[in-house]
Amino acid sequence: MIPIAAVDLDERTEKLVLEVLRSGRLAQGPMVERFESLFADRCGTRHAVAVANGTVALVAPLQALGIGPGDEVVTSPFTFVATLNAILETGATARFADIDPATFTVRPDAVAAALTDRTKVILPVHLFGQPADLGALTALAADHGCALVEDAAQAHGATFAGRPAGSFGTGCFSFYATKNIAMGEGGAVTTSDDDLADRLRLLRNQGMRARYEYEIVGHNYRLSELQAAVGIPQLEHLDALIGARQAHAQTLSDGLADLEGVVLPTCAPDRTHVWHQYTVRLTSDARRTRDDLAAALGEKGIATGIYYPRVAFDYACYRDHPGVAITPVPEAERAAAEVLALPVHPQLSASDLDHIISAMRELLG
Ligand SMILES: *Cc1c(COP(=O)(O)O)cnc(C)c1O
Repeated sequence: MIPIAAVDLDERTEKLVLEVLRSGRLAQGPMVERFESLFADRCGTRHAVAVANGTVALVAPLQALGIGPGDEVVTSPFTFVATLNAILETGATARFADIDPATFTVRPDAVAAALTDRTKVILPVHLFGQPADLGALTALAADHGCALVEDAAQAHGATFAGRPAGSFGTGCFSFYATKNIAMGEGGAVTTSDDDLADRLRLLRNQGMRARYEYEIVGHNYRLSELQAAVGIPQLEHLDALIGARQAHAQTLSDGLADLEGVVLPTCAPDRTHVWHQYTVRLTSDARRTRDDLAAALGEKGIATGIYYPRVAFDYACYRDHPGVAITPVPEAERAAAEVLALPVHPQLSASDLDHIISAMRELLG
């Protein structure tokens, strides 16, 4: 089976993990600091604050910005549910802006229409590895006097106008097992705001400034040394990992061109896409339904993924939630009905790619 995600753990990973084991220090320490410093460099920010996972990488900056009940956060309806859960965790209200079908990210004009006098944060999601329109969203946030928080969980190393995702607003990254940098579990927040970074570090460690001196009400959001050791080699090779994903996406797009009912993913000018997922859309013109196609590809040994089968708020627990302000989002609904992700990860061989392309052409041609 060609998996939808795969992680490359090399000898250097083993060496660094062994270094941690032999040091006897497992909890947050020098390896986490090393990861943070490398990650901040990569993102072009003054700080990277490593945390336990990508969900708390979203929660912590919202808390550090003082977001709570009565405040509103405008985000994308087409995202992993963690984005919405993080907003609700703070007690704030989530509002949704529909997506641009070409990029799967929020449309700035839809964000502008969702702003109210209670909006404190604009929270775009760089879905599948392509940044949202950060130029327009940065300007909107500045005009409205609210913060920009980027859900960059899928976009490590992606850029907008040459600048890394996570450096426009506060960047929220995940290092979950299937992400482009994978630690099993892990996350980081990037910022160039010294005060915000300081509050994030306090929040991460029970609000503690010096030993048993608690300055704010905090939490345990810490990352372990073992996880940082697993992340460092991937971070050091990030350009090569991204390059492999981009080459695979290009091969897929060349091979799948002109298939009836298949809309291929694109990257907007001035952005770089890091292809966390290679997501095609299957329209009603296609020869098979999405479920049929996924099953048939599975029989041919090709795993696929549906990210995401419904918009984030389309579940009873959110529809009835007082913190969820539902608005019509037809483009997000359509994407949820049409998307299918094909394998694009760095471990794919040339023959894997050939097999995916010929299977798709055979099933849909
Ligand atoms: C993975 C992901 C998260 C959450 O990260 P975890 O590490 O799984 O907590 C948040 N947002 C998006 C868009 C994601 O893909």
